[in-house]
Amino acid sequence: MPKLPVFKMFIDGQWQSSSSSQTFQKLNPATGRPIGIFQRGSKHDVNDAIESAEKAFGKWSEIPAPKRGKILLKVAELLEKNKESLAKELTEEMGKVLEESRGDIQEAIDMAEYMAGEGRRLFGKTTTSELKNKFAMTIREPIGVVGCITPWNFPFAIPSWKLFPALACGNTVVFKPSSDTPRCAIRLVEILEKAGLPKGVLNLVTGSGSSIGDAIVNDKRVRMVSFTGHRDTGKGILKKAGIKKVSLELGSKNVVIIMNDADLSLALDGVVWGAFGTTGQRCTAASRVIVHDSIKEKFEKMLLERTRKLKIGNGLDKGVQVGPLINKEALRKVHKYTRIGLKEGAKLLIGGKRYGIKGNFYHPTIFTNVSPKMRIAQEEIFGPTTAIISAKNLDDAIEKANSVEYGLSFSIYTKDIDKAFEAIRKLQSGIVYVNASTIGAEIHLPFGGVKESGFGREGGWTAIEEFSNEKTVYVDYSGKLQRAQIDVD
Ligand code: NAP
Repeated sequence: MPKLPVFKMFIDGQWQSSSSSQTFQKLNPATGRPIGIFQRGSKHDVNDAIESAEKAFGKWSEIPAPKRGKILLKVAELLEKNKESLAKELTEEMGKVLEESRGDIQEAIDMAEYMAGEGRRLFGKTTTSELKNKFAMTIREPIGVVGCITPWNFPFAIPSWKLFPALACGNTVVFKPSSDTPRCAIRLVEILEKAGLPKGVLNLVTGSGSSIGDAIVNDKRVRMVSFTGHRDTGKGILKKAGIKKVSLELGSKNVVIIMNDADLSLALDGVVWGAFGTTGQRCTAASRVIVHDSIKEKFEKMLLERTRKLKIGNGLDKGVQVGPLINKEALRKVHKYTRIGLKEGAKLLIGGKRYGIKGNFYHPTIFTNVSPKMRIAQEEIFGPTTAIISAKNLDDAIEKANSVEYGLSFSIYTKDIDKAFEAIRKLQSGIVYVNASTIGAEIHLPFGGVKESGFGREGGWTAIEEFSNEKTVYVDYSGKLQRAQIDVD
């Protein structure tokens, strides 16, 4: 067997081993073969990374923002140049179908270009003062050292949603990626280094979330934690963070509603893509489908027929539509929910079992006759499983859609514009799609959830609001003491 490559962490401008001398292996989820050896960072390494980010903050934050933006333009160029090889590495590391891996990299390219432009905006506001000869405005300032903790399911895109706006705003960063996708994180940091990011501005620590992630969250020198991941990890972070800015992008139990006037073949495309794209491992995955009673049987038949034809396999192989689950634990979890669904009395239409004996493959799985209270209709499964629930009318559909603790990305298919607008208003989610699936966020619009899907908004102008402080400035040029709220006549 060829010798495995050894990957290092990036602290204070140096690629280095962990001070603990401990390492871990990462396996290809399609083949089970290791792809490399990675550093198991220690709390000591986290301390060094924070110290380095703190040291670099002064100079970096003083560089004019348009100049900082130019580095991101270079990042976009390098990502574009290496897109194909990076996409292949991504598929090998996390199993995503190659076409989707290209999309993941494209999202990072788009974000780099957008945030480069933000370097020339970073808008504050001016407004009126209640007093004469007094000027009132706000300006944007960086926050300081930001801890960015990311999951594995979009290993280029999600870090780019955090790192690029954080850097454009003038912050320095300690980046802790998922232990399931350390190589993609290393590739991204290599590109930022190559693009000319000064020493210490970005530090990468790999290793266990409960140890080093925790150390980042707990440290007072870290002024903001931007986290994307599981709801329960987010809850723990919120408890430990103390007084610092926290943004949480968490899980969900998204829904596609299909009304009886919908274009059914369009809705079918949306459900298949939403439920089984990325093997259902998306925070925006359509893990519930609420269908109007009168078309339920017809739609189920259509869905079944299409699902049967889905090609499962290694994401690098041509024509494959559904790749593996990320690891053995995910495989166990998805199957556990199949057993739960059956025990709860839902009807299994298709799937419900492992595919093949090698790799972490699972058949796309559909339950029907699901009631909204069942656990398979309430809890995030994060795999290729979806639950069909029936509804009498729009009110019933909306009530059932909102009956979960989460609220990230909800969708409705209808040709009735009144129904569409009613749903837009009444659905309790951060994102609503009309006649499109739950998947498809664009980088220049706000992205984030409500309820237990978290708080904070990434993407577009809202990312700039997240990663900067707005300072209020009053300039009084009256030459005398003017007391607000008192000297107003
Ligand atoms: P996760 O288990 O919560 O892990 C996310 C990150 O947190 C990883 O880097 C992990 O490190 C780290 N971590 C674990 N324990 C920690 C702790 N005690 N303190 C600080 N950091 C800690 O989530 P995941 O399995 O990677 O990702 C799947 C979840 O992310 C799903 O729930 C999905 O819905 C959600 N997600 C949400 C969005 C969104 O934008 N709303 C987008 C994508 C995914 P290790 O890997 O080393 O454990």
